[in-house]
Amino acid sequence: AVPVICIDGPTASGKGTLGAAVAQALGYHLLDSGALYRLVGLAAERAGLSTASEDLAHPEHGVRMGALAQALQVRFDGDSIWLDGDNVTDALRTEAAGMAASRVSAVPAVRQALLALQHGFARLPGLVADGRDMGTVIFPQAPLKVFLTASAEQRADRRHKQLISKGISATLDSLLADLKARDLRDSTRKDAPLKPAEDAKLLDNSSLDVEQSVAQVLLWWQG
Ligand code: C5P
Repeated sequence: AVPVICIDGPTASGKGTLGAAVAQALGYHLLDSGALYRLVGLAAERAGLSTASEDLAHPEHGVRMGALAQALQVRFDGDSIWLDGDNVTDALRTEAAGMAASRVSAVPAVRQALLALQHGFARLPGLVADGRDMGTVIFPQAPLKVFLTASAEQRADRRHKQLISKGISATLDSLLADLKARDLRDSTRKDAPLKPAEDAKLLDNSSLDVEQSVAQVLLWWQG
């Protein structure tokens, strides 16, 4: 079997950074599963399909969104992500794309449609998969499941610094509010809610830097 390391946790907990560093250290493939939900949101917008929660609550609309997710034409090329032949790497990283992803990800047909796509990322020599339900739903047999945590304030602060460094303006208050809304929706939805797998290792990175977090994961992996 292909070895899989799962890294799950809430928005802006540092999953992406940690996952990429661990994959790099081990020479493993990387699955950024959040990008897939962001892609569905973006594809919907491009197709003129509403991602408003009240529309998604209608069963027929959910089915349509699932079909769109099933037909997703996506290509991962190094750090670039392509949708229908367009480079959408930057478009995917916006707060709006994250919020749309959070809304469409609550649709069971969408989660179902992305199942096989995600399993396809498990290739030798190994995979590091980051997201919300890698350990609980997608790769429940994975030998190492890490659940990352940090306070909402800390996460909002990190996201704020990240945006500022990219020259994007955002207020700490609005980031914190968005992040709490996303946490709430992600952890209370019926299908695959955000929660640690029973056998997950908890890693609170509030007072750790990236190197320390990577070292801890590698220690668990080799331990
Ligand atoms: O991790 P990222 O911020 O890119 O994820 C965007 C949204 O996609 C999350 O807020 C969450 O609602 C959803 N998601 C999910 N399951 C995953 C990864 C992301 O539901 N495995």
